[in-house]
Amino acid sequence: MANENIAVVVAHPDDEVLAFGGVMGRHVARSDNVHLLIMATGLAARTGDNSVDAGSLEKLRGDARAAAKVLGVGNVTFGDFPDNRMDSVALLDVVKRIEQFLDQAAATTLYTHHVGDMNIDHTVIARAALTACRPLPGAKIRRIYSGEVLSSSEYALPEHRFLPTTYVDIEAFLERKCTAMKCYRSEIRNTPHPRSVDSIVALARLRGSEAGLKAAEGLRLLREIER
Ligand SMILES: [Zn+2]
Repeated sequence: MANENIAVVVAHPDDEVLAFGGVMGRHVARSDNVHLLIMATGLAARTGDNSVDAGSLEKLRGDARAAAKVLGVGNVTFGDFPDNRMDSVALLDVVKRIEQFLDQAAATTLYTHHVGDMNIDHTVIARAALTACRPLPGAKIRRIYSGEVLSSSEYALPEHRFLPTTYVDIEAFLERKCTAMKCYRSEIRNTPHPRSVDSIVALARLRGSEAGLKAAEGLRLLREIER
């Protein structure tokens, strides 16, 4: 069987590591082609206009490329959408950008955000991604999963909390996931912040314990089409 084309579409630089660091590592180890799209800049706009500081943007993108490299992912695309303001963009524009990316990647599996997350960019992208993956005749995407992002998914409203349907063994990739997260010098925090190495390991152990594994990433299967 040919190697699979995998798409990961997230809002902010670091979301991809927090939600799918282990999953991506596994796909790379299987020689699948992992294509990563980070939609928003990850930086607050400067007051007065919608631009972000060019130096900070380049630094954060460098961190994102370094984190991807740790996980073996060479293909990183940046979407340039406004950070924490994606609800100010027409949903159709977000959908079109994701469609274009999925087409170019010829992806058959998509990993993206949980629609219930507290962060508005996560919610917009989850909705847009589902729209971009409408199961029309000839559509390539066969599986869509959402994942959980520490410091966003656990802050959701009680009725919107992330409940995994699928557990992926990441024991062999947990250390690499933590190393990748440390590449994000401006995002990693000290314990007990949820974006700390301790919390990343704790969540992986917890999700693992729910499935008889030493460490896992939890996913929600949103759609699967068997042909
Ligand atoms: Zn995020």
